[in-house]
Amino acid sequence: MRKKLVAGNWKMNGSLTENEALINSLIHRSARFQSVQVAVIPPYPYLAQAQQLLHSSTIVWGAQDVSLETGYGAFTGEVNAGMLKDFGCEYVIVGHSERRQRHHETDQQVARKAKIAVDNHLKPIVCVGETLAEREKGETLSVLSRQIDAVLNTLAIEQLQQVVLAYEPIWAIGTGKSATVQQVQEVHQTLRQRVESLDWVSAQELNILYGGSVKPSNALELMSLPDVDGALVGGASLVAEDFIAIIEAAA
Ligand code: PEP
Repeated sequence: MRKKLVAGNWKMNGSLTENEALINSLIHRSARFQSVQVAVIPPYPYLAQAQQLLHSSTIVWGAQDVSLETGYGAFTGEVNAGMLKDFGCEYVIVGHSERRQRHHETDQQVARKAKIAVDNHLKPIVCVGETLAEREKGETLSVLSRQIDAVLNTLAIEQLQQVVLAYEPIWAIGTGKSATVQQVQEVHQTLRQRVESLDWVSAQELNILYGGSVKPSNALELMSLPDVDGALVGGASLVAEDFIAIIEAAA
C-alpha cells in the first residue's frame, strides 16, 4: 500500500520569520494525518532552518534542485547531492518545468540528476509535463514517454523504488487551472504502466504525484484517483491553512 506524499514546493519564496511560522504551524496541525508523508521544499538558504525546526517532527524536507557535479571544487553556485544528504535531506526536485524552460535542462540532464540523487540516497521527485500547445496537438503521452524514458533508461531497475514521479502539466502550474480528473488519471495510469513494463514491484510502490494548481477546493477529487499518490503543491503550500487542507484531502 503506497503512502501518499504531499510536498510543498516553496520555489523562491519565504523569509526566516515567515518560514518559522509556517513550519511550526504545519508541525502542530499536520500531526494527526499520520497516513500522509508531508514534505517541505524551501529555497537553499533556508534548508538549514527547515532541518532544525523539523528535527523531531515527522515532516521531512527536500531541495529544489541538485548539481550535475558530484565532486567538490570550482563549481560556483552549485550544491552537490552529498552535501544535501550530509545534513538530512530526503527529497530533491529534478526537472521542474521552470528549470527545464528557464535553464534549458534537457531530458538527459534531468535523468542524470535523478540518478545522482538516488546514488546519494536522496529521493528524486522527477517532474514531467506537457505544454498547452503539446496537449492541443495530441502529443501529451508522447512527450511524457520521452521524458520518463530518459529516466528509466538511466537508472538501474533496482533504483526505481527510490523515485517519485510528479505529473505537472505546464499549463496548470501557477495558473489556477488544474487538469481534469480524467486527464490526470489517464496520464498517471500510463506512467505507472510504463514503469510496470520494466518492473512490476517498483510500479506498485511508485508514488506518482499530481502538481498544477492543487488547492483545497480540488484536492479531494484529485487525491481520490486510483493512480494519484499525493501532490506537489506550489502556491497553496505557502499558506498553512490551504496546505493542511490538501494534506487532509490526501489522508
Ligand atoms: C509547482 O510549481 O510545482 C506547482 C505545482 O505550482 P502550483 O501549485 O502553484 O500550480
